[in-house]
Amino acid sequence: MRLSPVATDVPRSGIRSFGDRAEGIAGPEPVIRLELGDPDFTTPAHISDAAARAVREGHTGYAKSSGVAELKGALADKLRARNGVAVAPEQVVITNGGTQALYLALLATLTPGDEVLVPDPGFPGYRTMAAAAGGVPVPYRLDPGDGFVPDAGAVAALVTDRTRVLLINSPGNPTGAVFPAAALQALLDLAEERDLWVVSDEVYDEMTFGRGHVSALALDHRDRVMSVFSFSKTYAMTGWRLGYLAAPAAAAATLPNLVLATVSCVATPTQLAGVTAVSGPQDAVAEMRAAYRARRDMAVPVLRAAGVPVHVPEGAFYLWIDVSGSGMSDMEFAGRLLEEHRVAVAPGTAFGDAGAGFVRVSLATAAGPLRTGVTRLAGLYAASAAARRAGPPPYAG
Ligand code: PLP
Repeated sequence: MRLSPVATDVPRSGIRSFGDRAEGIAGPEPVIRLELGDPDFTTPAHISDAAARAVREGHTGYAKSSGVAELKGALADKLRARNGVAVAPEQVVITNGGTQALYLALLATLTPGDEVLVPDPGFPGYRTMAAAAGGVPVPYRLDPGDGFVPDAGAVAALVTDRTRVLLINSPGNPTGAVFPAAALQALLDLAEERDLWVVSDEVYDEMTFGRGHVSALALDHRDRVMSVFSFSKTYAMTGWRLGYLAAPAAAAATLPNLVLATVSCVATPTQLAGVTAVSGPQDAVAEMRAAYRARRDMAVPVLRAAGVPVHVPEGAFYLWIDVSGSGMSDMEFAGRLLEEHRVAVAPGTAFGDAGAGFVRVSLATAAGPLRTGVTRLAGLYAASAAARRAGPPPYAG
């Protein structure tokens, strides 16, 4: 029997495919895994304890599809205190990770065939989710020369009669760019002029190392903004599947119908753990942020000493590394690094065409293996670049 085009045409993530390849590598020494954005930290104990307590106390039934009221209230408080955004608890919808929030935001705004402007390079999920929601992803380029901050004028040139959504991401994966307020405002002004929804992916909102994060919801024209947040990265809770979306009141009243249609509700004990995560002590968040920053500050000089061009991230937890000077494509470079040096990184083209010649290294790995991994990467780069400079070997006859 035939499957639908939505099922068959949704592309597979290039990062996951590379991870599968890394798992297939045999040998005594383990492969150093730097390709995934999954924190090496475990969830802070007080959060896990809250989930265990919730289960023991019998909070094991369905929750409302919009989410547990206590969590929505705690998140409205968090949005006010940490993001400078005043929203009512009714404007918060609890979702199965940021992933479901993004997917439902697209499902709620797109009519099949509508275009979604997505960053390139950008999180691969945007393209798959837009396609799964019946939309057509249209990439807009993020340039190194602009610090990977989108240029509203260049984005405007891509808007057509079918464009419905502008998807933005700050702090950005894979680039680590944190948008200044003025650049964000220019994008919202464009959305206002061209009557677009803005889906703003802010899942790394608390992972910044210098300039603070500005939420799209804190600026003008917020009546057309849906902002997506997650517990995954902030609290090292990727496997719990807890995220949320803050949206204009009418959208927030409708979105729970889509939660109901897909997962009924997010697991009740997970939501109650979320209340503790967001309302309890935040020391663990500060410690993880400091660790990511220290890893960045350790790894960047290793790469620079070998002449590898690397963008210093201001947020999220990735290094976006230009390996084009090696003379290899990003796929070849990542392939050789894996096969010959046992280090897995994500090839840049997994993030879009503009990722050609780049690889992404995740800082969500302990400092020891991270140092070994980037040292091997730098070694492969330097040797290839030197061989390239020396030119082809003389003809031996
Ligand atoms: N958005 C970005 C930019 C990401 O990097 C990720 C995960 O890596 C997600 C969204 C999805 O995260 P989750 O569904 O775990 O909240």
